[in-house]
Amino acid sequence: MIEDQLKAVIRDIPDFPKPGIVFKDITPLLQHSELVELAVQEFARRLENIEFDVIAGIESRGFLFGFLLAQYMKKPFIPIRKQGKLPYHTVSESYKLEYGQATIEMHEDAFPKGTKVLLHDDLLATGGTVVAASKLIEKVGGSVAGYTFVISLDFLQSAGRLTRFNENIISLVG
Ligand code: 5GP
Repeated sequence: MIEDQLKAVIRDIPDFPKPGIVFKDITPLLQHSELVELAVQEFARRLENIEFDVIAGIESRGFLFGFLLAQYMKKPFIPIRKQGKLPYHTVSESYKLEYGQATIEMHEDAFPKGTKVLLHDDLLATGGTVVAASKLIEKVGGSVAGYTFVISLDFLQSAGRLTRFNENIISLVG
């Protein structure tokens, strides 16, 4: 099963980035090109019945599989970045972190109104990041068509925060 294959190469790093946090490190997975290909194919298979126009990926680990999947499914790719990184006019959304806050941005002309956007990130934890990204998409007149994650930490709890945007939530691990 792909979930077991992925679990075997994703490693736990204790106390990163802070004491008490166990970080899921996906970098070893990137060294297994056949498994990366399988993961992209699995995303595509699970997306077969979901209609969407573009894929948006969240900086920076959301760019890895987000862009590959967009290429594989022949869809445009939209980068959602941290504040101050995108060169053209942007829309932005701030959200709370455990300590402090973060702001993400997207180009205001990234897609036309009415566009159905599939949102991708490497990992779903509290859901705060993708909730902010979903608001960005709605701000410019798009709608969320679904979500893809390589990993979700506590699927039932965090997915509950996303269903008001869309109930199509795909996670390969967890
Ligand atoms: P959330 O906003 O859902 O709490 O956190 C998810 C965001 O934080 C994602 O953008 C993800 O890249 C990052 N993140 C949080 N914890 C981890 C982790 O353990 N591993 C990885 N790879 N990313 C994490």
